[in-house]
Amino acid sequence: MESPRFDYAARIDRARAAMAEREADALLLSVGPDLPYLTGYEAMPLERLTMLALTPKDAVLVVPELEAPRVEPGPFETRPWGELEDPIDIVAGVVGGARSVLVGDHTWSAFLLSLQDALPDARFASAGPLMTSLRIRKEPDEIGLLRRAAHAADRVVARLAGLEMSSLTEREVARIVADWTVEEGHDVDTFKIVAAGPNGASPHHEPTDRVIAEGDMVIIDFGGRLGGYCSDTTRTFVVEDPTPEQQEVHAVVLAAQRAAAQAVRPGAIPAEIDAAARRIIEEAGYGEYFIHRTGHGIGLEVHENPYIIETNSQPVEPGMAFSIEPGIYLPGRFGVRIEDIVVVTDDGVEPLNRSDHSLVSVG
Ligand code: ZN
Ligand code: ZN
Ligand code: ZN
Repeated sequence: MESPRFDYAARIDRARAAMAEREADALLLSVGPDLPYLTGYEAMPLERLTMLALTPKDAVLVVPELEAPRVEPGPFETRPWGELEDPIDIVAGVVGGARSVLVGDHTWSAFLLSLQDALPDARFASAGPLMTSLRIRKEPDEIGLLRRAAHAADRVVARLAGLEMSSLTEREVARIVADWTVEEGHDVDTFKIVAAGPNGASPHHEPTDRVIAEGDMVIIDFGGRLGGYCSDTTRTFVVEDPTPEQQEVHAVVLAAQRAAAQAVRPGAIPAEIDAAARRIIEEAGYGEYFIHRTGHGIGLEVHENPYIIETNSQPVEPGMAFSIEPGIYLPGRFGVRIEDIVVVTDDGVEPLNRSDHSLVSVG
């Protein structure tokens, strides 16, 4: 599907208000999700510069002439630049005598260094905190897309429960997951982790040619993008019958996942949500094997603010969306992770993923 059109004028107004609060004279956004958030246009990550230059009075999208036909008109001026022009000069001309310039975090250093040369009197800082303040609470239409993406991912999980995995390689299962991710409604698949047996002890394992065998625990963590918004879910399967230990570890992770999800409500502190999961895993004796934070925000990016980690004490607010994904990783043996996306509502939490959480045996 085409990316939906949002109220970009309202978003640019909010960006300008946030610039005023921070006493910033200019905001410069290039590749990455911040530019499409404000304009609906995503820059090609190429050597020709695309950049929105936003000041209190101007909003100019500087774009290579050959890419300009892809720009949908919006509340900004489009300034195509020809092959013989210097786009850095054009951006410098728009921001003029700006003293304080905020630059998007994904901007290539080659462009930033040229901009610093072109604007020697300006002080450059990260636009990250400002853009996070705009993007961290999702609008209802954004939550609608996250929900649709999550439900598409849930349908993939339901199909996986019927997949004969034994004698397939991790790579073959990963290819099936990618195909189903698109078949079930995503525009594209973005990543897939298939980690069987001892490979499951590596949380971000890359699928290999290891053949999946009877007795393996198989972590499948995958996601796609729908209308620009990401899904990300994990379930852990077992091939044939689980051992008592595999059952126990799975039950501990599931209890931790539930406890953390139930701790989510407006005003909840991410450190406390993290602790709700960690406490259960620690009490079961597996604390040293839960080696990552409990979750991450999700939206236009798979990983974005807010992070559900011990060091984050900023209360969560309605409209924030993030993962709850505790895991236990036993080196050389197996791993278990269970992951859902949740959204903070006005009075509690909406879990977006609803696929079976129990330990499902596959063939
Ligand atoms: Zn991860
Ligand atoms: Zn994941
Ligand atoms: Zn995740």
